Amino acid sequence: MAKAYVCRAAEWVTREAMQIHGGMGYAEEYAVSRYFLDARVLSIFEGADETLCLKVIARRLLENVT
Ligand SMILES: Cc1cc2nc3c(=O)[nH]c(=O)nc-3n(C[C@H](O)[C@H](O)[C@H](O)COP(=O)(O)OP(=O)(O)OC[C@H]3O[C@@H](n4cnc5c(N)ncnc54)[C@H](O)[C@@H]3O)c2cc1C
Repeated sequence: MAKAYVCRAAEWVTREAMQIHGGMGYAEEYAVSRYFLDARVLSIFEGADETLCLKVIARRLLENVT
């Protein structure tokens, strides 16, 4: 659950950072564009977001219900 949360948080934070920088935030010369790219992959590797949420977290939560 922590991974699912912080991956989305990282995407949101770096998106906002890029947005604040405007057009220059998209330019490769600025580190902020790389931060967004790196944050984006967090929800793909080491357990893709959908797999993590559906197959791991939801399954575990349902086990606790029954
Ligand atoms: C930079 C990088 C480094 C990596 N390093 C390593 C490494 O060191 N060692 C290693 O073993 N692997 C590594 N990987 C592989 C990584 O673990 C896989 O990319 C990851 O597990 C996702 O698998 P996939 O790419 O085959 O996507 P897929 O499994 O094909 O998933 C594609 C999309 O479909 C979704 N999806 C899949 N199944 C379901 C489902 N049942 N229901 C709903 N949605 C679903 C996924 O969430 C995803 O959005 C790396 C990947 C990257 C990008």
